[in-house]
Amino acid sequence: MRRHCPACRQPVGERTVNQSFPFCSERCRLADLGKWFDGQYRIPGERAGDGAAGVGGADDEDEGGGGTT
Ligand SMILES: [Zn+2]
Repeated sequence: MRRHCPACRQPVGERTVNQSFPFCSERCRLADLGKWFDGQYRIPGERAGDGAAGVGGADDEDEGGGGTT
């Protein structure tokens, strides 16, 4: 049974000859790990940034302050 790399979908060698199993290479293995870590760190980061951005309302004032009409 042939396996395929979860990262790039390329055929993956046997575990006995492939240290990066089940990935095709070390690069894909690290890339997949980084993807997971990135997602974990992004969840709390977005929450904090969203809350802080919602407080500021200075931009709204600038928009309605135009008296060119
Ligand atoms: Zn790969």
